[in-house]
Amino acid sequence: MSHKDLYRNILLRLKPTFKLPLFKTWFADTGIIEKGDDFIVIGLPTPFAKQWVLDKYHIKVLQAAQEEDPSIKEVQYKVHAEFANEDSPYKVNLESLLGEEDTKTVRKVRNKEEYHVGKKGLKSRKLSIKHTLDNFVIGKDNKLAHTACLAVSNMPGGIYNPLYVFSGVGQGKTHLLQATGREILKNDPDARIVYMTAEQFTNEIIEAIGKRRTKQFKDKYRTVDCFILDDIQFLENKDMSQMEFFHTFNDLYDSNKQIILSSDTPPKDLNGFKDRLKGRFGMGTVVEILPPDYETRLAILQQKCSDLQNVIDMEVLECIAFHVESNVRDLVGVLMQVISHANLNGTAPSKELVATILETQHQIQVKHNGLSVASMNSKGKTIQEVIDSVAHYFHISTDEIVGSTRKKEIMMPRQVCMYLIKRELDHSYEKIGEVFGGRNHSTVLHAFNSISKKIKTDPRLLRDVQAIKQGLGF
Ligand code: ADP
Ligand code: MG
Repeated sequence: MSHKDLYRNILLRLKPTFKLPLFKTWFADTGIIEKGDDFIVIGLPTPFAKQWVLDKYHIKVLQAAQEEDPSIKEVQYKVHAEFANEDSPYKVNLESLLGEEDTKTVRKVRNKEEYHVGKKGLKSRKLSIKHTLDNFVIGKDNKLAHTACLAVSNMPGGIYNPLYVFSGVGQGKTHLLQATGREILKNDPDARIVYMTAEQFTNEIIEAIGKRRTKQFKDKYRTVDCFILDDIQFLENKDMSQMEFFHTFNDLYDSNKQIILSSDTPPKDLNGFKDRLKGRFGMGTVVEILPPDYETRLAILQQKCSDLQNVIDMEVLECIAFHVESNVRDLVGVLMQVISHANLNGTAPSKELVATILETQHQIQVKHNGLSVASMNSKGKTIQEVIDSVAHYFHISTDEIVGSTRKKEIMMPRQVCMYLIKRELDHSYEKIGEVFGGRNHSTVLHAFNSISKKIKTDPRLLRDVQAIKQGLGF
């Protein structure tokens, strides 16, 4: 394939993600000037255009390029005066491309709004281009959900039907659901996929009733291959929407069509839902996404930086990953704030900047003024002192804490102890494992995550941990 044909296909994929005037402005005078085994170089007319496309659209361009040719790992940009020239032979004629898109890609669209019908290059309106199964960072807390989505995308309507994904906010449900829709579409370009939020579903029903078009509404959703309904908790106490969804669900399920749902609780805990509906939700596979652990948080930050082609000091990322424990949305949000502040100041992101942002905008107290997480052990306490304090607090012996008994009344203090040593003194998981009778680092990691999670929901444990910390001067 010539460079020009390749670029033409990439532009065809990019176009639906832009408003037309914007697309013309930034891509009319561009083209591929070089292609290697795993990279392409896009030429642009001015330094400004180069910076703009790099800052704002790089991820989209990279994704479009990779979808077109998965061997492309990197997209570079170069200013090339040639592109300022009206008749540059490198350029793809945008007008011809726009015409082509209309005739080719909107083939067989039964209803442009809802269906994502497609052949290569077709973009849906509602399945975001940003979300793919490949750019979902896998950690132990979301692995199951990711695996289930992958399985569904390989065999929609199979044994994982319905697939029900639940988690707190910002943990990647929408990302996974949309990515699964896209993946199904990739495997079967003619599949009819509907992605919508439960809120949109409800609004459509209300509108259909108002316009006396309920029959059309019913028919529309009962003929799709995969129905993805996001945030179904929104249907709480909405009897009419629930009833309508119940019928849609049954029709689709009976004809082996895939149903994917997300919610903020497991099916049995949904409030204001008819039991028969809850029963249906739990019939297939139910998976939970837990808040990411430190390692996953760090991996997500690293991936975001590489997506953005931004090189940031590891210790800055570590500082963010260490302090922002709540969810991925907040985590990425803080990273973006740090990057944009640093850009505004014309400086490189630093731990001090992270500390300022966390403290002023997120009410997260950064210890030691945002100095390295590793330097937090300058508190002058030793591992032994932490062990002694915890043992004393829970009235058990230090031998028991570091020993091997699995009695509940010892296990919990042991986990608290590991948690505090990690959190306050920041020794490595391996090192802590050694101190605790040669345990594996994953045991320590598990203890750390388990206590981090429990103190959010168990006030007694939180009180205990705070009391011990106070005693130690943390
Ligand atoms: P939810 O629907 O659970 O509220 P989202 O899917 O909207 O969460 O996720 C919030 C943000 O975090 C999105 O930008 C999403 O792409 C990103 N995100 C969440 N989990 C991951 C992950 N494991 N890897 C990469 N990005 C993620
Ligand atoms: Mg969501």
